[in-house]
Amino acid sequence: MKNSAKLFIVLIMLMNLNSACKNQPETVTVSQDDFKYFVDQFEDIRILKYRLPAFESLTLQQKEYIYYLSQAALAGRDILWDQNFRYNIIVRKTLEGIIESYSGDKNTDEYKAFLTYAKRVFFSNGIHHHYSSDKFKPGFSSEYFAVLLNSSDKSKLPMEPGLTIDIFTKFLTPVLFDETLYAKKVDQREGVDMVAASASNFYELVTQKEVEEFYAGKIDPKDTRPISLGLNSKVVRFNGKVSEQVYKSGGMYGAAIDEIIKWLELAASVAGSEMQKKELELLIEYYKTGDLKKWDEYNVAWAGNTNSMVDYINGFIENYEDPLGMKATWEAIVNYTDVEASKRTAVITSNAQWFEDNSPIMPEYKKEKVTGVAAKVINIAMLGGDCYPASPLGINLPNADWIRKEVGSKSVTLANISDAYDAASRGNGFLEEFAADAEEVARVNKFRSLADALHTDLHECVGHASGKLAEGTDPNALKNYASPLEESRADLFALYYMTDDKMKVLGLFPDMEAGKVAYDDYLRNGLLTQLVRIKPGKDIEQAHMRCRSMISHWVYEKGKDSKVVEMLTKDGKTYVKINDYKKLRELFGELLKEVQRIKSQGDFEAGKKLVEDYGVKVEPMLHAEVLERYARLNLAPYTGFVNPVLTPVKDAAGKITDITVGYTDDYLGQMLDYGKKFSFLPVKN
Ligand code: ZN
Repeated sequence: MKNSAKLFIVLIMLMNLNSACKNQPETVTVSQDDFKYFVDQFEDIRILKYRLPAFESLTLQQKEYIYYLSQAALAGRDILWDQNFRYNIIVRKTLEGIIESYSGDKNTDEYKAFLTYAKRVFFSNGIHHHYSSDKFKPGFSSEYFAVLLNSSDKSKLPMEPGLTIDIFTKFLTPVLFDETLYAKKVDQREGVDMVAASASNFYELVTQKEVEEFYAGKIDPKDTRPISLGLNSKVVRFNGKVSEQVYKSGGMYGAAIDEIIKWLELAASVAGSEMQKKELELLIEYYKTGDLKKWDEYNVAWAGNTNSMVDYINGFIENYEDPLGMKATWEAIVNYTDVEASKRTAVITSNAQWFEDNSPIMPEYKKEKVTGVAAKVINIAMLGGDCYPASPLGINLPNADWIRKEVGSKSVTLANISDAYDAASRGNGFLEEFAADAEEVARVNKFRSLADALHTDLHECVGHASGKLAEGTDPNALKNYASPLEESRADLFALYYMTDDKMKVLGLFPDMEAGKVAYDDYLRNGLLTQLVRIKPGKDIEQAHMRCRSMISHWVYEKGKDSKVVEMLTKDGKTYVKINDYKKLRELFGELLKEVQRIKSQGDFEAGKKLVEDYGVKVEPMLHAEVLERYARLNLAPYTGFVNPVLTPVKDAAGKITDITVGYTDDYLGQMLDYGKKFSFLPVKN
C-alpha cells in the first residue's frame, strides 16, 4: 500500500497454519467438547467454522454492540464483489438464481461441476482466485451453462426487463469461459500496463500512465500528515476527462454504505464508552462524506482507543487488489478480547523498545522511541468483506504511516481462527510428509502452536512497528515491491528474535526448542510446501508468498558453503534440513538489516533485485515433485470460514434481552442467505 505500514495479515505462515494461543505447549487442547470444525472441502479450498469462546459471559451491552457491528460487517458485502471485478455481482446473482430455480437433473456430473464452480466464486468474492488472482476455469461447458440458464426461473436471474435469455447468455458466456478475457484480477508483471491488464475494478477506460498523472503532485511532499490518496474511489474517464468516483453515501456504492451507516448508528447508540461512540461518529461522518481527512481523524481515534473489550474494523483498508497499491477493498471484522492470551502480547509490547534497541538494523534507522504498539489476542465474532470467508490471522492497523508514528497502531492475533486451523490440521499427514525426520515432526508437534502464535505476535506487535525512514525518503519509493519487502521486514524481525534468549527471560518460551520449530516451519514452507499453492509453470505473485520465498532462498544461498541449511534427497523426495540454527539466525539478522536499509533509503533497485532474484521464480522440477507429494495427501491448501449466526432475543416490547450464537455446517446455505439478506447494490455500479 502506501508504504511501510502495509501490514495486514501474517496470512498463513505455514500451509496448514497452526497457531493457538494457549501458553502451555504440552497441554494444547484441541477443543474441550466435540465441536466439529470441518464444514466442507472443494477444489483447493477447505471450509471450517470457528467458535466464539466465552461469548455468553459478555454483558448484554457488549453483545448488543457486537450484534450491530456484525450487521454492519455483512452489509458491505456487495462492495467488495464489485471492486474485485465489475461483473461479479451479476455473475453471483446468476449463480444464485440457477441454484435456487434450476429445474433439470441435479444429479449429473455437470451440475456438480457447476456447484463446485459456484462455491469457488462465493469463496473468492468473485470469479478470480482469491490468492493467485487467476480467473477460474469452469469445470462444465458453455453449452451446459446455456442449458442451466434456459431451465431456470427467469425471474430469479438478474436480467433487465425485456432482455432475452439468449442475449443474457451471450453476454455472460465469455465473461465466464473466455480464458483470455479478464484473465487476472491483479497483474503486476514488469512492463505491462497494470491498470489495463488487471480485472479488478478500480479503474475504467484509463491507462496506468493517466492514473499516475492524475495523482501526481496531489500530495505535498512536505505534508507530515498526508491523506491516503486515492484510497476510496474509482478512477474513470468521464466526459473525456479523467476523474474520481468516490465511495460514499450518495456516491459510488452509496446504497450499501447507507446500510453500513444504519448499523453503525445503532452500534453507536450502545457503545461501551464515550470514546468509542465518538470514534463511530467519525466513521459514520467519513462514510457520509468520503472525506479522507475524516478517515484519518477516525483512525487516530480508533488507534488511540486500546482498552475496549469489543472492537472492530470497518472500511476501505487494504490495497492488495489494486495493481497500483493505492485503492482499498472494503473489509470488516468484529471481535472481542481474549483476556488470558492477551497477557502474552502485553509482555512483548511492553518490551518493544528493547527489541528495537537490540535489533541488528543500522542504528540510524532505529526508532528512538517505539510508540504504542497495542497488542491483543482477540476472538472473532464476525468476518465480512475482504476478511470473509478467508480470514487473516493477525492484523495491524491503521495503515497510514504518520498515524502509526504519532499515535501508534493496534495489533491483534485472532485466537479462535488460529485454534480452528490448529484443530482441523492436526494429524492430517502434511507435516509427516515434508518434515526432514521424525525428530523434527516431534519437535514441531510439541511447539508449533506456541511458535506460531509468537511469530505472529512479534511480526505484528514489534516487527512492522520497528524502524524508520531516512529523512526525505519517499514512502512510496518501493512501489510494487513494497508489500513483499514490508512483510519480509516484519517476518525477519520475528525470526531474528525467535531464538533469542530474551524469549526465555520474558517467560514466553518454556524451552528454546520452540524457536527452532519456528525456523523449521518457515524454511520448509518457504523452500518447499508453499509451492502447493502455485500452478505448474506459474511464478510466485502473492506478496506474502514472495516474502517467504525470498527470505528462505536468500538464507539458503548465503549459507550454502557452510551448509547452514541443506536440501536433502531421500527416496527421490526433497527435504529441508537446518544444520546450524545459530548461524541461520545471523543470516536472518543480516537480511533484516538490508531490507530495513532498502526501506529506509527507498532503494527501489535493490529491493526489486532481492524480490526478483529470490522471491518470484519457481524451480520446475522441485515444484512438480512437491505438487505430486501434496496431491497424494488429498488436502486443500486454502482455508476459509463460515460465520456464526448471531440472533437477537427480544422481549414483548421488542427490546433486545440477549444475543444467541448459532453455528452452521452449511457453507453454500450461508452464501445464499447472505446473497438474499446483504445485497444492496445494483449489478452495475
Ligand atoms: Zn505483516
